[in-house]
Amino acid sequence: VAKTTRGGVRVYQPDDDRNSPRRLAMVADLREAIQRHDIVVVFQPKLETATGLVVGAEALARWHHPVHGFVPPDEFIPLAEHSGLIRPLTLHVLEVSLRRCASWRRMGHDLHVAVNLSPNSLQEADLPDIVDRLLGQAGVPASALTLEITESTIMADPTGALVTLDRLHALGVKLAIDDFGTGYSSLGRLRELPIHEMKIDRSFVQRIAVDHRDRAVVRSAVQLGHALDLMVVAEGVEDVHTLSHLRQEGCNLVQGYHISKPLPADDFAEWLAARVP
Ligand code: C2E
Ligand code: CA
Ligand code: CA
Ligand code: CA
Repeated sequence: VAKTTRGGVRVYQPDDDRNSPRRLAMVADLREAIQRHDIVVVFQPKLETATGLVVGAEALARWHHPVHGFVPPDEFIPLAEHSGLIRPLTLHVLEVSLRRCASWRRMGHDLHVAVNLSPNSLQEADLPDIVDRLLGQAGVPASALTLEITESTIMADPTGALVTLDRLHALGVKLAIDDFGTGYSSLGRLRELPIHEMKIDRSFVQRIAVDHRDRAVVRSAVQLGHALDLMVVAEGVEDVHTLSHLRQEGCNLVQGYHISKPLPADDFAEWLAARVP
């Protein structure tokens, strides 16, 4: 089944067969969407837990297919990864994000922007040079860019990834381990990486107000992060109870629907202006 109707809205359904005509057509459409800059970037604020201050935003890619409607990133990112399109997609997201970050900073907001990297990106030797060039073009200091990578990204090729991560770190770019707790990473490895931030996966965060075991897991993750001198971020904060638990646990930063959903760039700028005098 390629399409279903959900409340009158057409929803794209992934196809299992790698070479099905339907999938090949989606790849062609995605290529075109990237070329035409139809991949939109939305921004979700990141707040300091203790003070409520906005410190940055995570950039998330959105694709509105002309026929199939909204295609979730969990569908089109893997499609891009498997069809050689992840590189142009990542560069597009990076470029847009840095341009937006520059404009927030011109408005007087000292914010960072966080961009997600796919596993293969770390295998590309020229990534640090490209990042350096894009930072220069946008006029954003390297320290205002965070790149989010998952545990599996590093574990796939630890040695290769480390070379790239070291070069990014040398530029001054910050690195975050995303979805922490879902992959399996050796603690020894984690300690060796030039990372700055640990993001606890939302599957652990979401129920801490009602489940003491989840709370214990999050508490240990925060302690581990702090033992490694990392900033600890909780994602998927959906209510005030979760937020107050995270404050008690000493989690540094929070992100989630309770604070704001990811917003189109113009809405984010408005949100920011209303929130930050
Ligand atoms: P992620 O990096 O873990 O991003 C966080 C996801 O959680 C986002 O989903 C965000 O919209 C969602 N989220 C934020 N707050 C809440 C909350 O309070 N509750 C719930 N239930 N969800 C929340 P999204 O935008 O659908 O992205 C899904 C994944 O797709 C991302 O997970 C990331 O792995 C990938 N992705 C998105 N944009 C990009 C991109 O530009 N490049 C790459 N490589 N991957 C991307
Ligand atoms: Ca992320
Ligand atoms: Ca995440
Ligand atoms: Ca995720």
